[in-house]
Amino acid sequence: MVSKLTGSKRATQFTESVIREMTRLSQRHGAVNLSQGFPDFPAPAAIKEAARAAIAADLNQYAVTWGAQRLREAIAREFTRRHGLRVDADAQVTVCCGSTEAMMAAMMAIVDPGDEVVVFEPFYENYGPDAILSGATPRFVALHAPAGPAASGPWWFDPGELAASFTDRTRAIIINTPNNPTGKVFSRAELETIAALCRKWDAIAIADEIYEHIVYDGRRHVPIATIDGMADRTITINGLSKTYSLTGWRVGWTIAPPALTAAIRKVHDFLTVGAPAPLQEAGAVALGLPDAYYAELAAGYRRRRDLLLEILGHHRFSCHVPEGAYYVMTDIAGFHAADDVEFARYLVQEIGVAAVPGSSFYRTSGEGRTSLRFCFCKRDETLREADRRLARHSGRDVCLCSVPDLAERDT
Ligand code: PLP
Repeated sequence: MVSKLTGSKRATQFTESVIREMTRLSQRHGAVNLSQGFPDFPAPAAIKEAARAAIAADLNQYAVTWGAQRLREAIAREFTRRHGLRVDADAQVTVCCGSTEAMMAAMMAIVDPGDEVVVFEPFYENYGPDAILSGATPRFVALHAPAGPAASGPWWFDPGELAASFTDRTRAIIINTPNNPTGKVFSRAELETIAALCRKWDAIAIADEIYEHIVYDGRRHVPIATIDGMADRTITINGLSKTYSLTGWRVGWTIAPPALTAAIRKVHDFLTVGAPAPLQEAGAVALGLPDAYYAELAAGYRRRRDLLLEILGHHRFSCHVPEGAYYVMTDIAGFHAADDVEFARYLVQEIGVAAVPGSSFYRTSGEGRTSLRFCFCKRDETLREADRRLARHSGRDVCLCSVPDLAERDT
């Protein structure tokens, strides 16, 4: 008889997160962790102070299940102020335990088993298990790496390939812009192409916009909800994690039309009841920070981006220059490693630098085997330590060159 003391069929269809595993390996080997995307610098003092004050004021019991009033109002107000689209805090905003829960709650709220969900590939690895757990059948559409010298041009999709992935079974498409792992920022024209397909096939856009404020070189983030006819069919997902360097607080949210919000709230209620109450109060303070905060955030990341690109370039990694978010995808074909997983293990164990194997962002077998993702949401000294370690390497079957030490340079 087959034992029943095992995980469910659903739970055996996906593996542990490779990204989180790389963080554990990094800790075990004392490596510089450029794998999981969390900052190693402090969060803004005013937000931390607001959390302390909320706990001291005894805001320590359950918040309203769909989110503290002040936070929902701040989320609605800011979206309207920045993007000119009216959002009703009472009918359209649901606060969740991070945008991770927001995505899961959204998928479970709108997808029936067998429904298809279009996903651009490479994708943030959570979307795979999200699809399996909600019963969705994912339809992958390639985001193609820029051709020619790796550093030039944005990642792109073929509108014909995208159109062919929509059918009358398509329930939704997931759009992550600015994008993890590619750094792509979807242009208005690209979003219009996607929006036209959503309207044609009566599909929902689920937009993960968690890197909204981290865009470079004069680019602007465009929420797909603001494209004609999309406000009524878009679930926008965002959170405190990346914008305010608060990944451990677990506060995220959805903005969606009232009918979809009602479904999301039911799923959210029974998944988690609610996000941490005092941290939601502090979240309302975060959303009230002045525009200068966001400008500095983006400028700081741009500087770190350029530093990491320079370091990786010195070590012969061929890099795709990100337009947004805080990751660099590299092409490691030139290193003649067996594959990305072996190379990532080698780097973390022998060199002391953790990165994420590219294949963890693909479901299509064999894809991503020649890429690694490095993050740069780290202090300059952390990035410089990574540089020193990469330079220390010599010999073996992979060949990293040593580079001038950047430690003394003023960045
Ligand atoms: N969405 C994307 C695209 C991410 O890259 C991440 C984290 O790396 C998340 C969601 C998770 O966000 P949160 O901390 O709000 O759950």
